[in-house]
Amino acid sequence: MKLSTRARRLKPSATLTITAKAKELKSQGVDVIGFGAGEPDFDSPDHVKEYAIKAIRDGLTKYTAVGGIDELKDSIIGRLREDHGLVYERSEIIVSIGAKHSLYNLTQVLVDSRDEVIVPAPYWVSYPEQITLAEGTPIILETSEENGFKIDPVELKKHITPSTKALILNYPSNPTGATYNEQELRAIVQVAMDAGIVIISDEIYEKILYNGLKHTPVAALGEDIKKATILVNGVSKTYSMTGWRIGYAAGDKEVISAMSKLQGQSTSNPTSISQWAAVAAFSGPHDEIVRRTGEFEERKNYIVQRLNTIPGISCFSPQGAFYVFPNVSGYYGKEYDGKMIKDSLDFTEYILVEAKVAVVPGVAFGSDDHVRISYATSMEDIVKGMDRVEEALSRFD
Ligand SMILES: *Cc1c(COP(=O)(O)O)cnc(C)c1O
Repeated sequence: MKLSTRARRLKPSATLTITAKAKELKSQGVDVIGFGAGEPDFDSPDHVKEYAIKAIRDGLTKYTAVGGIDELKDSIIGRLREDHGLVYERSEIIVSIGAKHSLYNLTQVLVDSRDEVIVPAPYWVSYPEQITLAEGTPIILETSEENGFKIDPVELKKHITPSTKALILNYPSNPTGATYNEQELRAIVQVAMDAGIVIISDEIYEKILYNGLKHTPVAALGEDIKKATILVNGVSKTYSMTGWRIGYAAGDKEVISAMSKLQGQSTSNPTSISQWAAVAAFSGPHDEIVRRTGEFEERKNYIVQRLNTIPGISCFSPQGAFYVFPNVSGYYGKEYDGKMIKDSLDFTEYILVEAKVAVVPGVAFGSDDHVRISYATSMEDIVKGMDRVEEALSRFD
């Protein structure tokens, strides 16, 4: 059968591909250490599970309102108000099947063919693909390691044209772990506001921040900025609830209503049981979340230190999320078994085959000098994995 142009253009998610490859090796009995996963290794909280089981017992297993139950919208509204002083109404919130789905719906209702959307690189793999699916054009805005992978407002301005529809922000960032303080954020947002473009702010890692840093949502920078911003977030990363598939968008009523219309003609409501579980997550105790972030920070400190002692690797110390994004280009040009490491894909393959460690090539995130290592795994595996990587790379000495 002949597939649509749209389907033929679509790239598979690189992060999911490497996870599958590592799983395959594992199933063959190879002891692979997986640093590929984009999800916390912690279990979903017990009170969340109990609430979901109760929802099943109470028969809350039917269709719900397309954009989510009022109880969940209210718990999202409560969180945003309590954490950030942000005030939203129910009509300004839509619950989707994960933040990825919120972003997909958002792109579909905002972007026309030939519209440009600015995507700072390194970027989360799905942004460019989702923009292309909406027939828009992703405009890649490079950031550099020297500048801490942060957007330069002057560079941002240069990338804006009359066709620019939106700017995507993602902080703390997947894959770099970079984030912004309020002053830096204001400078970037001002450029977008002057150009009259939409700000799509993916803040899914807002609670996973280090060095005592505080997260400032774009929407909290002022009432006019809030009006121009669609905030995207969810339960996956904060509450270790990736499989439940609950995310949301908050912002302009008309945009939210259009997203709801699209959702109504495609997926309908997110799973009713998951929605009740998310109510428990947002409204429940948060001390465990703080403890887990502390654990992520310990792992981050260890892994950054280990990577930076390996010759030919330099690793930026992330301020949030659970990834490191080391520069491995010092190994490009090295040869083994008659093969040469030329790029991040070759490097990833070398590490997988020779060290039995799975990482994700940076090229998937728009940066071929790097690889992404997720430390959402046990300290024991991190130690073992780093030992193996170090050993495999020392063969080039
Ligand atoms: C994980 C992730 C998402 C999507 O999460 P969902 O599980 O779909 O809620 C969105 N953006 C970034 C940057 C992510 O890393």
